[in-house]
Amino acid sequence: MYGAEKGRRLRIFLPRALSVGQNAKNEIGAAMTASSPAASSRFNAAIVPVTPFQQNCTLLWDETTKVGCVVDPGGDVPDILAAIKEVGIRIEKILLTHGHLDHVGGAAELKAALGNVPIEGPHKADAMIMANVEKQAATYGVPGTMKNATSDRWLVDGDTVSVAGHTFEILHCPGHSPGSVVMFNRAQRFALMGDVLFQGSIGRTDLPGCSHDQLITAIKTKVLPLGDDVTFICGHGPTSTIGEERLSNPYIA
Ligand SMILES: [Zn+2]
Ligand SMILES: [Zn+2]
Repeated sequence: MYGAEKGRRLRIFLPRALSVGQNAKNEIGAAMTASSPAASSRFNAAIVPVTPFQQNCTLLWDETTKVGCVVDPGGDVPDILAAIKEVGIRIEKILLTHGHLDHVGGAAELKAALGNVPIEGPHKADAMIMANVEKQAATYGVPGTMKNATSDRWLVDGDTVSVAGHTFEILHCPGHSPGSVVMFNRAQRFALMGDVLFQGSIGRTDLPGCSHDQLITAIKTKVLPLGDDVTFICGHGPTSTIGEERLSNPYIA
């Protein structure tokens, strides 16, 4: 799926798990004005691959209100802005799953371009990494495009984040980076995984501040218990489900 769509910058998909759930209807009902139709309250998502690392910057929005967020704007901000325009949505906030440059390098520029929308996440343990993005970019040979970033709201385990009236539960999952978080929408059985778990792989743990043991523990004790039916978008590569990874992922099977 990922390779077949190569060359198309904007990938819009509608995973089955994102169909309207009972709870989703209630949640959106509470967040919208009384006159708003409650018929459709599901998320739609589009992925914009950004940076030389092909990071899955994700637009997520409510189909009814056309309000949403940008997850992990690592760079290539003009492409992200074009995608926002193309799908015709209003962005109310930026979410960050962790502090690595390919996920946060465009956050400051995008925040400014969108009228100073708030940035939420990751956990504060990644603050130092985010303050050194420009240095890291130079190290990786991609200077100039990715900028240092900070957050308006650092998250801790158990926090909730709201996007267009939908709630995400925050799971602090250190290991790939100290401040990595997974964001879980229980109503639509959907998660934003960052670089914690991929289709067939897990986040790398060979960088400073990483811990393989911590990552495996976080996946096994926090991510897998979310349930086999949960669909997730991850930082790189195709989407998957927790059930698929539980059965076939060599790092955790
Ligand atoms: Zn990362
Ligand atoms: Zn990444």
